[in-house]
Amino acid sequence: MLRRKAVESNAVVLTFDDGPGSRLTTELLIVLAESKAKATFFMLGRNIAGREVIVKQIAQQGHDICSHGYDHLHSWKVSPFRALADIRRGWAAIDAALGTGRRKYPFRPPNGKLNIISLLYLIFLQVPIVYWSIDSGDTWRDIPNSDRIALLVKKTGGMVSLAHDFDRSDDSRRQFVIESTRSALAAAKEKNMPVLTVSELFK
Ligand SMILES: [Zn+2]
Repeated sequence: MLRRKAVESNAVVLTFDDGPGSRLTTELLIVLAESKAKATFFMLGRNIAGREVIVKQIAQQGHDICSHGYDHLHSWKVSPFRALADIRRGWAAIDAALGTGRRKYPFRPPNGKLNIISLLYLIFLQVPIVYWSIDSGDTWRDIPNSDRIALLVKKTGGMVSLAHDFDRSDDSRRQFVIESTRSALAAAKEKNMPVLTVSELFK
């Protein structure tokens, strides 16, 4: 549904999962600010501890903060109630960092998998479940050309792209995320396509 909305509005929605990362997220914020663009961050609760300042910075700069759970549990491989508790714990970690009490945030299931209990729970709470349409390939064994997203922006138009902003020991992957974000933003500008957050797209 989100993908269809992105295609309809010919919008580029940049999403980043599994962060925040101490170095990479901070660098991405600079790249995004340079283009005055907003992105959406699906944070992992366990990565928030010690990086609360970064979470606040993301919010202050007007980006979308969403959740990717606490511990990146594959919800088909753990008990349904453990998966559900993990969703709530992920939300609580964001609220604790921001000092807010929103209690729920749009959710992207780790590995793209949801069990039926979690699914019903999210539907009951009217929490948007957010997938993606284009994977940047930043976690693949062989990282592709950093122009991959940019080329697809030019070729296919509206999209929800996926990259990851947790810190890597592999510097080429960190560089890849930065470069592909930069080139995607340049392509959107060239094509006159709006760069929107998930919540802007749903407005
Ligand atoms: Zn993930």
